[in-house]
Amino acid sequence: MEQITRKAYAKINLGLDVIGRRPDGYHEVKMIMQTVGIYDVLTFQKRKATANSPCIQISIEQAEPGGEILPRDQGNLIYRAAALIMETRGIKEGVEITLQKKIPIAAGMAGGSTDAAAVFHGLNELFGLSMSPEDMKRLGVQIGADVPYCIMGGTALSEGIGERLTPLPTPPAAYLLIAKPDISVSTKYVYENLHADTLTWHPDIEGMAEALKAGSLSGIVERMGNVLESVTEKKYPVIGQLKEEMKAHGALNALMSGSGPTVFGIYREKKTAEKGYAAVRKLGLAKDIFVTEFVSP
Ligand code: ATP
Repeated sequence: MEQITRKAYAKINLGLDVIGRRPDGYHEVKMIMQTVGIYDVLTFQKRKATANSPCIQISIEQAEPGGEILPRDQGNLIYRAAALIMETRGIKEGVEITLQKKIPIAAGMAGGSTDAAAVFHGLNELFGLSMSPEDMKRLGVQIGADVPYCIMGGTALSEGIGERLTPLPTPPAAYLLIAKPDISVSTKYVYENLHADTLTWHPDIEGMAEALKAGSLSGIVERMGNVLESVTEKKYPVIGQLKEEMKAHGALNALMSGSGPTVFGIYREKKTAEKGYAAVRKLGLAKDIFVTEFVSP
């Protein structure tokens, strides 16, 4: 039987600003999103739906022993995305989805959203639904604010609650050292503890978009900034230590991604990024550490 396989890539935020809070409680953001070379793998296969077998069956392979065990029901964004698509499109058949989880969980790398995005692409192909990227993004935002971006991937300016997307050129080639300390950070906690109206500093997101258009790596790295660091870094000083360590070992700049706790450093040379990797590992500052690159779709 036909089986479809898709990679679901993680993202980092080269810049993240919060403009304010909307009356409905959502935060209005302005972010530069970037796909990176760390990914989960999902496979999709049709199966007969019967009275005693559920329409959506999920199995998960998680490499990380002792980490958070992901749910296989509505608690998983994969399930929610599949249920939404199948309900909206009136699909009566069943589907079996397997997930090989490699992206660190609750890390600020949109692991759940990118898996949900892969479900949109996967089921679109498996069931021949002919959904356009716009159709998928419109439906995807019901699962989560970052899902439309993950459906698109690459480099983008994200505005509104994350649903207004403008594609941007991929940054010039560089190497990334990405490290997640052994703590889990709840996105909800970080946003609840951010007082957007009292922020005295905002990163230059427009300037970064211009630097991307100009293909200037130095213009990009000098504008890296994330207002959520004011909450997460205060609670977890290891984030500040990681940034300092990366910069001390040749990173052009280093920043926390999303609501954290993952930190990334940008390097011109792979060799230097690998030295940074060794230094971070030696100090025991992070559990999951990767050297990777920017990815364009
Ligand atoms: P973001 O950057 O979008 O804030 P994140 O990287 O901080 O996301 P996720 O890895 O997406 O966080 O996980 C947040 C929570 O979502 C997890 O603690 C987990 O309980 C739940 N979750 C549901 N489905 C998934 C999934 N497929 N992968 C990871 N987490 C999932």
